[in-house]
Amino acid sequence: MMLLQTRTLIQEGYIGCNHKCLFCGYTFHRTQKRKGTFAYKNVGSKNNEEHAIIEILKNKNINLQHLRNTAIDGSSQRLRFNVNKKITNDMLNEFFMKLFEIKQKAIKLYNLVGLPTETDDDYNEIVNVFINADKKTKKTEKKIWIQLHNTPFKPLPLTPLANTEIKYKDYRNVFTNLFNRRPIYEGKTGILMETLYCESLPTHTTDIIIHRATEQDAQNIRKIATSNKFLNATAQQKKEILEKLFDVKKLFGNYNADNLPTKYLRTYCKVEKIWRKNDK
Ligand code: SF4
Repeated sequence: MMLLQTRTLIQEGYIGCNHKCLFCGYTFHRTQKRKGTFAYKNVGSKNNEEHAIIEILKNKNINLQHLRNTAIDGSSQRLRFNVNKKITNDMLNEFFMKLFEIKQKAIKLYNLVGLPTETDDDYNEIVNVFINADKKTKKTEKKIWIQLHNTPFKPLPLTPLANTEIKYKDYRNVFTNLFNRRPIYEGKTGILMETLYCESLPTHTTDIIIHRATEQDAQNIRKIATSNKFLNATAQQKKEILEKLFDVKKLFGNYNADNLPTKYLRTYCKVEKIWRKNDK
């Protein structure tokens, strides 16, 4: 309405990314981008841009005071490198220390959980990097809140990992349960906190259904999409309904270049060649 009244045209200035993280649609579906970078500006926010950590550490002009979100997308260096997200623990350590130094108030770190081969050791690693950075920094009057926002791993169609197995697990409070405390860690300079908004297993499952279901599932998709009973059900009830209507094991399992339901889609990147390579 406001747009119509003021006749203001809001244009998405740049989309896409050059970093080629193997699960990500921003980079494999979209070509309009700034060279060598990823930055995403929310509509209406003047200074509040999301940047990739790699740029933050390379580009001294990025104003950390205005940074509200960025992403690590993997709890350990090993997991991040497995999905081509080249953030080392040293880089993360430097990033945390920079945040502590400028007395930033709070920042949200988007993280992926449930990446292939992930174990509890990987969760420990990110927490230890945070603790080490906190220990190396001088005590401040006000502590910075780092909110770890976990999203269950879901490789998008038309990305190199589109055919990968996905873990069928509820990841809500995964750090809080492992460390048996909330916040995960409170140091002299920073507080590491897991947000409460990680997707529940049924929400995650409906995304995977959209990405991987076939014509045979159409009837059941219609059923849940139009059902008030499903809409108002608890997470546990939704889980049971979805397990009854869909072959969850198959949907979350491994696919190959020939049986992947989205294999007919095409993008500027020839990712289907990568699936064939992975199949060998
Ligand atoms: S996850 Fe972020 S940095 Fe990686 S390709 Fe996507 S937009 Fe770029």
